[in-house]
Amino acid sequence: MDAKDVAADLDRVIVTADEIAVKTAELAAQIDADYAGREVLLVGVLNGAVMVMSDLSRAMRSRLKMDWMAVSSYGAGTKSSGVVRILKDLTIDVLDKHVLIVEDIVDTGLTLSYLVDNLKGRGAASVEVAAMFRKPAALTTVVNVKYIGFDIPNDFVVGYGLDFNGHYRNLRDVAVLGKHMYS
Ligand code: 5GP
Repeated sequence: MDAKDVAADLDRVIVTADEIAVKTAELAAQIDADYAGREVLLVGVLNGAVMVMSDLSRAMRSRLKMDWMAVSSYGAGTKSSGVVRILKDLTIDVLDKHVLIVEDIVDTGLTLSYLVDNLKGRGAASVEVAAMFRKPAALTTVVNVKYIGFDIPNDFVVGYGLDFNGHYRNLRDVAVLGKHMYS
């Protein structure tokens, strides 16, 4: 769906589907160059990173593997709980692998910081992070996000995999959800 299909629910579009496509190609080229000669394991964080993973992996020319983790996230609200729980673990052993965590959005960085430590603890040869969106709070976290798509304002956004109560993941653009939808 496009933003116009749910216009009444949204405040404003901040990143269009076309802008995401251009940025994805840039990130893919950069990642390909950085991992030249090394096989990378892309670890997508369910459910939000499904779109990023799908587009980024296909834009890459490298030989790669993909796996998925699910961790607890915002639930029904719009604020980070700070609690990270593994709901679904990897099926591939990360020992000695070059892991690139693929995330939709970094806000407080709590989720990522947990994941990076967790995967390093399992003996990955390297662990880096690619995130399509980053909020201002992420700039003060300890997590180093090597590949970033867009820095966005500190608003609750939906689209391109990002949901509110399970909806809007299939929105092609990324938009700020209208406050009237949750207050
Ligand atoms: P963090 O642990 O960095 O605070 O939060 C990361 C997770 O929170 C993301 O993977 C995403 O699931 C969720 N999240 C953070 N900000 C937003 C937002 O603006 N919209 C949506 N839908 N989810 C968000």
